[in-house]
Amino acid sequence: MSKDPKTTSQIIRRQAMDIGAARPVATPLHQSVVYAAGSPDQLDAQYSGQLAGYTYAREGHPNAAALAARIDALEGAEGGLITGSGMAAITAALLGLLKAGDHMIGADQLYGRSLRLMSQDLPRFGIETGQFDPTDAPSLKRALRPNTKLVLVEALSNPTLRVADMAGIAEICTQHGLIMVLDNTFTTPAMMRSYQVGADIIIHSVTKLLAGHADVTLGYVAAKNPDHRKAIYDFAVTTGMTPAPYECWLAERGLFTFDLRYARAEENAAALAEFLAHHPKVKRVLYPTRPDHPDHNRAMALFEGQGGNMLSFEIEGGREAANRFVQAAPNIAFAPTLGDVACSLSHPASSSHRALTPEGRAALGISEGFFRLSVGIEDVTQLKSDFTAALAAV
Ligand SMILES: *Cc1c(COP(=O)(O)O)cnc(C)c1O
Repeated sequence: MSKDPKTTSQIIRRQAMDIGAARPVATPLHQSVVYAAGSPDQLDAQYSGQLAGYTYAREGHPNAAALAARIDALEGAEGGLITGSGMAAITAALLGLLKAGDHMIGADQLYGRSLRLMSQDLPRFGIETGQFDPTDAPSLKRALRPNTKLVLVEALSNPTLRVADMAGIAEICTQHGLIMVLDNTFTTPAMMRSYQVGADIIIHSVTKLLAGHADVTLGYVAAKNPDHRKAIYDFAVTTGMTPAPYECWLAERGLFTFDLRYARAEENAAALAEFLAHHPKVKRVLYPTRPDHPDHNRAMALFEGQGGNMLSFEIEGGREAANRFVQAAPNIAFAPTLGDVACSLSHPASSSHRALTPEGRAALGISEGFFRLSVGIEDVTQLKSDFTAALAAV
């Protein structure tokens, strides 16, 4: 061997790193686009599924597989796919399974971009869309057409936290052979496991509670039927919806504390709901375990007594009061997301529901004083004093 300093071309010879006899305890980050095969025979065996192995990161990589397997375990699913965002997971499911001439029905208070996908994009591809009220299962039956193939639903609506009649919806889907796609982002597998309430396809925005630290954008989609699974996988890989290794690595690390974060956030949310409900400047509080919640009994049965980490409330006064409230709560992020370790507060009238008319918002019960709160894992005494200060400014 030459004693000369190595040239760049010598250094870049691609060889696996030797890490000795012991294994790392944390999942290694496999920041590699390609995986070199040993021979054409081996590559053939990989492509035909006889041999496990990766080839090209858009088609799959170890960090996505490790994350998917952990979310599979939480949901009791198998073969889940990680996508670059929650919206990519929804898009892969809908466009992977529907074709021009098909009809799908979505709940009327879905995540904003899901509603937009149904109203603006799917019709451009010849896919017809309709809506129903998920708290009223017979309204799904009335929205059916002969070409209806699929139903998209969330169990807890945004931002009024209405609870879907999952049993009624599942029954209609079974009777009519419809594919039920359930976006379980708000509810998480801690409140409700998707297949147990009748879903055929499970969606998560991993961005939210599962990853849990507001530093990763990712999605997850799983299908019960292997034909559905393959159609969704092929569409996602072809259209490049698949995720980066580092994002998956971060999300996997976040997921290890999901149970702990969820339990603490829920405990905080229940305590804050109680606190706000007794505050003179709060007009109403929406939280599923509270007896005054409009779907209380259904929520108690579906979520087995759990209320989750989301709550909504309405303060007295209009936009001016809302501005003062947010300004007087500098510790609470005023940001349209959810599921972070810290609280985040959103104001639907100026964000998610700004496109509606004031009358349209009023019909949903969303006034200028209406806020949605994603509760974090902070010290609850501190949270109560932050809210006391904010409400004093109203
Ligand atoms: C955030 C969210 C999405 C979209 O997820 P992204 O990761 O932001 O693309 C879909 N559904 C629900 C219920 C969400 O809260």
